[in-house]
Amino acid sequence: MINFNVPPCAPKAFDYIKECVDNHKICGDGAFTKKCNEWIEKKTGTKKCLLTTSCTHATEMAASLCNIKAGDEVIMPSYTFVSTADAFVIRGATPVFVDIRPDTMNIDEKLIEAAITPNTKAIVPVHYAGVSCEMDTIMDIAKRHNLKVIEDAAQGIMSTYKGKALGSIGDYGCFSFHETKNYSMGEGGALLISDESDVEAAEIIREKGTNRSKYYRGQIDKYTWIDWGSSYLPSDMNAAYLYAQLEMADEINNHRLMLWDMYYERLKPLMEKGAIELPTVPEGCVHNAHMFYIKAADIEERTRLENYLKKDNGIYAVFHYIPLHTSPAGKKFGRFFGEDRYTTKESERLLRLPMYYDLKPEEVEYICSKVTRFYN
Ligand SMILES: *Cc1c(COP(=O)(O)O)cnc(C)c1O
Repeated sequence: MINFNVPPCAPKAFDYIKECVDNHKICGDGAFTKKCNEWIEKKTGTKKCLLTTSCTHATEMAASLCNIKAGDEVIMPSYTFVSTADAFVIRGATPVFVDIRPDTMNIDEKLIEAAITPNTKAIVPVHYAGVSCEMDTIMDIAKRHNLKVIEDAAQGIMSTYKGKALGSIGDYGCFSFHETKNYSMGEGGALLISDESDVEAAEIIREKGTNRSKYYRGQIDKYTWIDWGSSYLPSDMNAAYLYAQLEMADEINNHRLMLWDMYYERLKPLMEKGAIELPTVPEGCVHNAHMFYIKAADIEERTRLENYLKKDNGIYAVFHYIPLHTSPAGKKFGRFFGEDRYTTKESERLLRLPMYYDLKPEEVEYICSKVTRFYN
């Protein structure tokens, strides 16, 4: 059997967790949280990184920092995970869904401007599969219309757009360290903040509305309740588990890229025959091999392929994202702008193949041979 995902575990993870326990510091903002923050700041060239309990929570923090309120509209793709919308719906805002580009499955930047109304406050590009959205265009639209940009870079750590790290381009960037992501702490995430003047407000939101972060740094002699906030700090034990992977981030990334390239090479003949489609990585984008997907002709063929791989060959391939605008909550809270040309159709064709650090080249070889057999 070949799993769809196996969460990464770095060799030093348990030593680091033990260090937290031995030092009697297992709550948030301990030594390993700080190491993770600094590592991410350095890697992405962003002003400030705050480790959070999830990407969902990082996005909620960004929505709060943008002062998103009831009646506001936020532009995003419908082909995304529910968190992208949840973080704004909790504040009473309306997600306005815009169609995607079929080549990258990312929001179609050419459709964004027409979806803007006087109520629009922010654009949320989702970098699907760790392949960047067309950020120059999106940042230009945001600037001209005075909108905030919150990058859902849940899948995008280690990826770049024209040399800039994903998550560091907009006003805020949100990473996920869920067990299904390239680097993991079980559940966790990070908020990247590009404007230094936002940092204090972000720290307050993350610390239950208090200025405890300032107190810990010795900048004030007691801490108090300043504003609304929640508890968005992960345990330092989780940060320790993550930090062990960040220390070997390039090794993990290179292995994934090697597997991704192998998939691409082995399946290219099927693409050339017109049997399937393979992912596109546009010029200027460097990706992180977050996922490898193929596109079948339609939902019926995809279902047959999925079953063939799983039932006949023990290979777990999965599809995802029922477009949000077609879901019960999406209908209740959001609306689709314009025509759904690609979102539904392309989502029904897409199948993700196994991809994780522990996956072996022989296994990729085996999977590709089975996909090829299915089509022959
Ligand atoms: C995984 C994911 C999220 C949610 O991340 P959590 O850390 O589980 O909250 C949000 N958006 C996208 C695109 C994701 O892939």
